[in-house]
Formats: sequence, structure tokens, C-alpha cells
Amino acid sequence: MPGGHAPGTAERDLDDRPLVVVWEATRACALACRHCRASAQRRPAPDELTPAEARDLLAQIGRIRPPVFVITGGDPLERADLFERIAEAAAMGLRVSLAPSVTARLQRQTVASLAALGCAGIQLSLDGADAETHDRFRGCPGTFARTMRACGWVREEGIPLSLGTTVSTHNADQLDELYELVGSLGAARWDLFFLVPAGRAQAGEMIPPTLAEAVMIWLAAVSTDAPFAIKTTEAPQLRRVLAARRPDPNGRPAVGDGKGFVFIAANGDIRPSGFLPLVAGNTRRDDLLATYRRDPLFRALRDPDALTGPRCSQCGYRRTCGGSRSRAYAVYGDPLADDPLCAHVPPSPAPSASGGVPC
Ligand code: SF4
Repeated sequence: MPGGHAPGTAERDLDDRPLVVVWEATRACALACRHCRASAQRRPAPDELTPAEARDLLAQIGRIRPPVFVITGGDPLERADLFERIAEAAAMGLRVSLAPSVTARLQRQTVASLAALGCAGIQLSLDGADAETHDRFRGCPGTFARTMRACGWVREEGIPLSLGTTVSTHNADQLDELYELVGSLGAARWDLFFLVPAGRAQAGEMIPPTLAEAVMIWLAAVSTDAPFAIKTTEAPQLRRVLAARRPDPNGRPAVGDGKGFVFIAANGDIRPSGFLPLVAGNTRRDDLLATYRRDPLFRALRDPDALTGPRCSQCGYRRTCGGSRSRAYAVYGDPLADDPLCAHVPPSPAPSASGGVPC
């Protein structure tokens, strides 16, 4: 399912409920990744949800029943009640995926315990095709080697393995090698996060639009024969490239940034994305589903005709793509502005100041 399309998109109304719910269980993490969205810290923040508040959040998510529920961080393994919460979520029938950091907390027994709880997927980060590149990214020597071992444990425990790569200027020249490595590690899915300059990530680390376009074209080509699913995050332009090759009669929208996607921060803040720090409510006082349905920001993000950027607002692909709203906010301060990653220039009107090339 390349391009950020989640299961069941055609059958479900994205205005009605999210398909993907992501809970940042804690911001604590032992790593110090240079691009960390959460600006993770060594210790949990004092305002993180208590176990009782987390139970209430899970009950809300259980009522939504999203096809995809991901627990992330920081490092979710730093949360003391994590396994109790996963067990509760599984008992509600939720398919729980976990995105742990690769630290000393992630041991073979940890993976076995997650398998016993019925964990539906584990996502590990793979930001370089070699130890030097990956460990520089992660800010911790030895992380690449540990990741290779952890991939084996996940595979051996029979949990679907997903590998996540933050695409940036640091590794864009390694994507061919990363593709081969993801295949050799037996991953079920490769998730490419195109860097958004939020948290610790800097604007200068984003790849330029012309290179992004070349990567999308390459992804569209390799995704047809890849032995794993390919998905992009914060880069729905892949859907434009795919649609140009093979029009989708259903015109299904990309999922992301409040459109079929909701993020709950460690303190309960309800946000359209982990990369978009605009808060629509808080699960301590607000109903998650009602906020998703009714909040003006979420509604605007789901409305392709609300886009204000001169390119996205005029683009024939704005319903199936719509650009990364997180990157628009990070760069222009307006979540409805153009996505500066995109190289596409619609036939009219004039291109925006953010540049781009005709295609
Ligand atoms: S101009 Fe905007 S809507 Fe069109 S393809 Fe680019 S990012 Fe997507």
C-alpha cells in the first residue's frame, strides 16, 4: 500500500473516524536522535498521562476501533505500565503495533513478551544502510548492530516487522542499499518518513523537491515488485506519481495529518500528527472521536478545498495527495499552505515562492 493509504480507506469515511491512531506513550528515550520529532528526553515529562488516564484513553480508542493503532514514543518501553496497557488494548480487540527504540531495554525476552500479548507489528528505525550513517543519526554507537539483532528476534517471534527510515540529506544517497537491506531483513513493510523540520530536525536536512520527485518516481517503480509493502509518511506526493501512472477510479485520499489519522501526545494533547504541534483538545477532558470529527482544524485538514497555498489549492491531485500539512506548518507557519517538498507545478495559476518544477 504505497503512498500512505491505510486499509479500508475506500470503505470508510475519513470524516467519520480515523483509520490510524498513534499514541505517544512517553517522551522518555535513552537515544538522542538528531531528527527526533518528539525532542525526546531522558526522563518522562511530569505531565504524562497517568496509568488511570492512559486506561481511559485506551477505552476511547477501543470505541473507535481503528484498523491501525500504534504505540510510539520517545521509547514506549520506558513507560512502566506499557505491558499492562498493551494487554488491555488487545483485550478490547485492538491490533496494537509498537515502535520501540533500539536500546538495552529491547531484549529478546521483550520481543517474546510482546508476541505473547498478540502484538500486531513492531516498527524499528533504520536510518542508514551502514553502522556509521545509522549510528550518527541515532546519536548512539552500536545501535545499528543492535537493530540487526532485534530484527532477527522480531522475525523469529513471528511478529510482522516494519522498518522506518527518515529520508533526509543524510541518507538520500543510500536508498538503493536501504531497499536491499530491508528485503534481506525480512521486513513486511518499509515506511519512509520524509523529514519534517519539527522537534530536533532542521529545515536544511530536508531533501530538495527535485530529489524528492526522483525518489517518488523510484519508489513507484520498485513498489510493484518489492517483497515488502512500501509506505510514505509526510510525503503523499507518491500518490500523485502513482495516479499519473495508473489512475485510481476510487480517488482514495492519502491518510495523514488529521485526515484518517490522529496523534495523542504523551500529555494527552490531541493533534493531527506527531509532526504538527497544533492542539485540538486533550484526552483528559475531551472526547477523542468528537474532537477528531468536529474540531475546526481537523475539519480544514480534511477539506482539499480549504488549502490556501497557490500550488496545492489549484492542484488536480489535492484530493488524493493534498501535501504534508505538517511540513507546510513547519516551514510556512500555516498548515494549509503549500508543501515545500513537492516539485509539482499545476498548470495554473503561477507557482508559489517555494519553487518547484513542472511535471
Ligand atoms: S501541489 Fe500539493 S496537492 Fe499537488 S501534488 Fe504537490 S503537494 Fe500534492
